[in-house]
Amino acid sequence: MQEFTKFPTKTGRRSLSRSISQSSTDSYSSAASYTDSSDDEVSPREKQQTNSKGSSNFCVKNIKQAEFGRREIEIAEQDMSALISLRKRAQGEKPLAGAKIVGCTHITAQTAVLIETLCALGAQCRWSACNIYSTQNEVAAALAEAGVAVFAWKGESEDDFWWCIDRCVNVDGWQANMILDDGGDLTHWVYKKYPSVFKKIRGIVEESVTGVHRLYQLSKAGKLCVPAMNVNDSVTKQKFDNLYCCRESILDGLKRTTDVMFGGKQVVVCGYGEVGKGCCAALKALGAIVYVTEIDPICALQACMDGFRVVKLSEVIRQVDVVITCTGNKNVVTREHLDRMKNSCIVCNMGHSNTEIDVTSLRTPELTWERVRSQVDHVIWPDGKRVVLLAEGRLLNLSCSTVPTFVLSITATTQALALIELYNAPEGRYKQDVYLLPKKMDEYVASLHLPSFDAHLTELTDDQAKYLGLNKNGPFKPNYYRY
Ligand code: NAD
Repeated sequence: MQEFTKFPTKTGRRSLSRSISQSSTDSYSSAASYTDSSDDEVSPREKQQTNSKGSSNFCVKNIKQAEFGRREIEIAEQDMSALISLRKRAQGEKPLAGAKIVGCTHITAQTAVLIETLCALGAQCRWSACNIYSTQNEVAAALAEAGVAVFAWKGESEDDFWWCIDRCVNVDGWQANMILDDGGDLTHWVYKKYPSVFKKIRGIVEESVTGVHRLYQLSKAGKLCVPAMNVNDSVTKQKFDNLYCCRESILDGLKRTTDVMFGGKQVVVCGYGEVGKGCCAALKALGAIVYVTEIDPICALQACMDGFRVVKLSEVIRQVDVVITCTGNKNVVTREHLDRMKNSCIVCNMGHSNTEIDVTSLRTPELTWERVRSQVDHVIWPDGKRVVLLAEGRLLNLSCSTVPTFVLSITATTQALALIELYNAPEGRYKQDVYLLPKKMDEYVASLHLPSFDAHLTELTDDQAKYLGLNKNGPFKPNYYRY
């Protein structure tokens, strides 16, 4: 708990009912000055709503949007065939029977497919959003209509955010035994307010870099009291969600908000990890001149070898047209940088936390804020210079665009398998520590997605398997292999 409070939070084919493997290992302070334009201005917390079955065990923007949301979920299902096949494979088996999962993730059509898969596998779910802007209201409504206790809407205040999390945890007659978190805020809330809940929790599954970092800190301090799965560092999450998802959605988010043309534009990308690599690749492909900033010599060298100029932000800040942060760090773009940017420079963040750009420093009397479009603010300096700030520094793609369903299917399948693994693991397999998904599960997630491409795997011959020292059914790589 103390470790958590250091952060500026707010924000197989084998029987699935048994464990799949044998062994293994932000926060949003809403300075928001607006709520998204929507059907009415009444806070969902003030509304009395019931679904068609008479249940009011939810809090969403407008339950009447459920039908529209259901169509969105059905569209997402088309590209999430692995989860659907997981539902079919586990039919009758219910590997999550008795699981009471409290979740805090982005609430989108794709997450809805995950939540409904968990329910189909036998779990009861209560869900809140890990980001105050990313909830698709109609999807939240469809989940509520289907009987999921969902507490989330787009444009929550900070107080709403914590209230929604609390409504998922603090329930008479219902106590969670699994946590699915994205960013660590839910875990933080349980540690802070309801530590006794951990007596019943069998495990935490955490998706984000930020949340995983917080879990490792707890573990290091000897304060982690349940096993946790680090989904972020599983290959099927990191290489696909962080890299490929951002490679596609960075352009979508920027175009929808600003209509910017990238050819010949000078862009600086802060951080050349998975997200940064995806952003840089996309921008380069459209003819942008891309600069990279890095603190890590290995990532910096990768950027150089990929053809990008590695610079300090201060060296290029006066000339660039777009600044994108994707470091998972804080105060990467400071007020000093913002002061030196040229007129019309676009500033946005692709990292999990809204602290990468020091947006708070822009809330000073001499600067004028002008909302020009939803999620687009012009911050105007006394001399008339304008900086175009997107999503108030919150992650751009999830706030301003949609993200590719197929990539999210990979992550969601990984999360589902991690939950099944932790929930069904025999006592003692996992201790109070942070574990990586067993490699075989990573490979299983990938294999579930190959039919979508009509991809045909080559099988090892007995002789080849012996030569490589591998089991013909995997795992095919050692844990230290980097892909
Ligand atoms: P990563 O650790 O692979 O990469 C981050 C990079 O930033 C590292 O190479 C690190 O050395 C560098 N860095 C740290 N501080 C820096 C600084 N001050 N200046 C320059 N570089 C710095 O992490 P990742 O997987 O690329 O994720 C980055 C962030 O994006 C995280 O917050 C993660 O949660 C988030 N994320 C966002 C999405 C999305 O859809 N927008 C998807 C996945 C992850």
